[in-house]
Amino acid sequence: NGGCGGAGKLDRIQVLVRLRPLSEKEVARGEPAEWECINDSTVMFRSTFPDRPTAPTAYTFDRVFHSDCSTKEVYDEGVKEVALSVVKGINSSIFAYGQTSSGKTYTMTGVTEYTVADIYDYINKHEERAFVLKFSAIEIYNEVIRDLLSAENTPTPLRLWDDAEKGTYIENLTEVVLRDWDHLKGLIAVCEAQRRTGETFLNEKSSRSHQILRLTVESSAREFLGKDKSTTLVASANFVDLAGSERASQALSAGTRLKEGCHINRSLLALGTVIRKLGMGSNAHIPYRDSKLTRILQPSLGGNARTAIICTLSPATSHIEQSRNTLLFGSCAK
Ligand code: ADP
Ligand code: MG
Repeated sequence: NGGCGGAGKLDRIQVLVRLRPLSEKEVARGEPAEWECINDSTVMFRSTFPDRPTAPTAYTFDRVFHSDCSTKEVYDEGVKEVALSVVKGINSSIFAYGQTSSGKTYTMTGVTEYTVADIYDYINKHEERAFVLKFSAIEIYNEVIRDLLSAENTPTPLRLWDDAEKGTYIENLTEVVLRDWDHLKGLIAVCEAQRRTGETFLNEKSSRSHQILRLTVESSAREFLGKDKSTTLVASANFVDLAGSERASQALSAGTRLKEGCHINRSLLALGTVIRKLGMGSNAHIPYRDSKLTRILQPSLGGNARTAIICTLSPATSHIEQSRNTLLFGSCAK
């Protein structure tokens, strides 16, 4: 798996890197393009400043996508197989990890839509089974969970419960049975509007909050419908647009003891630890319970679940430190 040191392990965590193009502002500032994908799995940094010599550094992952690659290519080659396992009853989670403005939302939006289109395509080709698709959406901000499909203007925080049978679940979460593709598009628009409430906070909030869109697929063989529950397959695919990773690395660089008032993103740090431990393939205790995000996603991480992490990268020289931190996070997952 791309020389990341994971030989012999089950490759349940796919780590992908997507380099976005320089923005117009960055081009106008004269930022050079110092990042380059030298093949399908290696991205390299090479300083173009003769007065600031840095040895070229190469980073290898399962797959890297250069700045001209479309979201469809990222989906087809890096995400599709993981996300579509949901129709076979296997949970999955797809993450976008990176600093604010690196392209997380841009990438996740497209990836989610392509997945749903393919799920409908699969359903149409498998008439021997009856399918039900359900959709729910939450935001985690400062360890508070809110329902993005709530009818309330200011949705009340939702509570997490542990249940012997259901596992960890979110109380009173809206779950909508999807009629079709347009229905889903409408719901995603509702989520975006909900995230946008308190517009002045938008940048602050969207860089600090995690969004999880969850698609649950249930299916049963038609010949057994109403006869035998055991033929029903149920699984969820989770699309996770993470908070900006700049918070996590700030917190990490501040050491374990944080200054008072420093806003630590507990969920992002906990996810890093969980992913790292899963990546090590050890039987060590996996600390899912350390944050809301990892508790909610536990059934879709580890075990036989499939995971893809898309590390989004800004090519700007001014973002070099954050880009390195993002790649470090990605390397730890392998
Ligand atoms: P994030 O969610 O990580 O903060 P966004 O997804 O909002 O970042 O992306 C920041 C800006 O860059 C947006 O204007 C977005 O449209 C643009 N962008 C991101 N990735 C790409 C890409 N691969 N190609 C073209 N534009 C992109
Ligand atoms: Mg975003």
